[in-house]
Amino acid sequence: MLRGEHDAPALAGRDACAGATEVAAAALANLNENQHPAITADQVNLATPDTEVSLDDTHSAALQVASRFLLGFAAAHGGGIVGLCLHADKNDGRMMEESAALYVVPTPLGNLADLTRRSEEILRTVRWVAAEDTRHSGPLLKQLGAQARTIPAHQHNEHEAAARIVDKLRAGEAVALISDAGTPGISDPGARIVAAVRAAGCKVVPLPGPCAATTALSGSGLLDEHFLFYGFLPAKGGQRRQALEELREQACALVFYEAPHRVLETVEDMATVFGERTLVIARELTKLFESIHSLPLAEALDWLKADPNRQRGEFVLMLSGAPADAENGEGERVLKLLLDDGLPTKQAAKLAAAITGAAKNALYELALTLKKQ
Ligand code: SAM
Repeated sequence: MLRGEHDAPALAGRDACAGATEVAAAALANLNENQHPAITADQVNLATPDTEVSLDDTHSAALQVASRFLLGFAAAHGGGIVGLCLHADKNDGRMMEESAALYVVPTPLGNLADLTRRSEEILRTVRWVAAEDTRHSGPLLKQLGAQARTIPAHQHNEHEAAARIVDKLRAGEAVALISDAGTPGISDPGARIVAAVRAAGCKVVPLPGPCAATTALSGSGLLDEHFLFYGFLPAKGGQRRQALEELREQACALVFYEAPHRVLETVEDMATVFGERTLVIARELTKLFESIHSLPLAEALDWLKADPNRQRGEFVLMLSGAPADAENGEGERVLKLLLDDGLPTKQAAKLAAAITGAAKNALYELALTLKKQ
């Protein structure tokens, strides 16, 4: 139970709600034209806050109580209200309703504790959950005590699902969008639904949360300043090698998703195309057998083959970026010109990188070496 203890009385329902409304009304009666009631943090922040609403301590305290009661009332009566953000009308301070939204909700990659508190609240209180696989998401929703009805929203029905979702939003109902694991729309269905909802003029509220790419990258130890998220490479060998060829000159770290049954052939292709690079293999993140292993790309295939367990589970493969062509290339030429012109090392490396697209760190290292000569 993540809801704060102070919320418990709110779940008592209608009477509590009526009491809270009186508190809110009393507070509102005392507001002048520059004071608007605040809806904060753990209550109706489930929808985006109105930026024009400002805080007044005395009044907001009463309204926070009121809002919690309202939220609790909604939860106790099957949800629906949570998609409506209560805010004060600028002119007369009356409480207004804002339209419902599509909440894009990341779900855990493996460890259930990674569901954020805000995501949990959304899933527990929205009326509709659009899910990639309703059977897969059922246990999670059940565990949360979610009352929501589900809408199938997978890669083969995104247009149809989007139309249904837009209908719900237009009827003032809140909808959460989830995929089987991680962030919807990231190598998962969802992008078309979000596009359709936005095109229909309805509100989309993306929530931060689990994503295999960022989780893996944050634990990779790769020092590249930039990264390119590629997702899944083509399944067919020829197309995969072609895709890798096109990425060869990228100076940023490259992040791929890969299935266990293809990891050997993909790593083999990477070694053929890229030559000397660092490969980081992140496997089973947030799960019991989580491992993150960094090694020279040329050694990776043997390492994977040495133990079948290393080929099991879910993978994120990360490659260091193309080494800057700093020794002979444009980066070095511009760097030398700037250093000769008297620019400090750091600034020269930064400018040379900006001008030529070469990696700043590599140019900085080169500049230090040149200065010592
Ligand atoms: N939408 C998800 C996200 O935000 O990361 C990705 C979904 S995609 C269909 C599934 C792929 O993500 C897997 O094949 C794997 O490459 C990666 N992945 C998902 N969970 C993972 C985990 N626990 N450890 C490593 N990789 C994972």
